Amino acid sequence: MGKGNCVFNRQWLANAKYKAWLAEASDKSKHHARCFVCKKDFNISSMGEAALKSHMAGARHQMLIKGNENSAPKLTMEDFVQQSGRAFFGSKFICYSSDD
Ligand SMILES: [Zn+2]
Repeated sequence: MGKGNCVFNRQWLANAKYKAWLAEASDKSKHHARCFVCKKDFNISSMGEAALKSHMAGARHQMLIKGNENSAPKLTMEDFVQQSGRAFFGSKFICYSSDD
């Protein structure tokens, strides 16, 4: 059986529970997964998906996820402003000025 032989499953990346933090380990084996919130690779070879749940339940991870949620809208907005915000705010501005 698969004990010690679990590999990364890309379907996990589509799972709402995991996709906020999960990534494939970059320079390690398929037996690792990466948490980009904790910036940490962890071994999944023996536990598989249970290792994700175990990592997710960790106090440090929970703390970082909460911090990330708080700062995420800010980061997202900065990205948004850089990419398409001008158009968005531009059209909003036009609405205001046509009100004048
Ligand atoms: Zn984590």
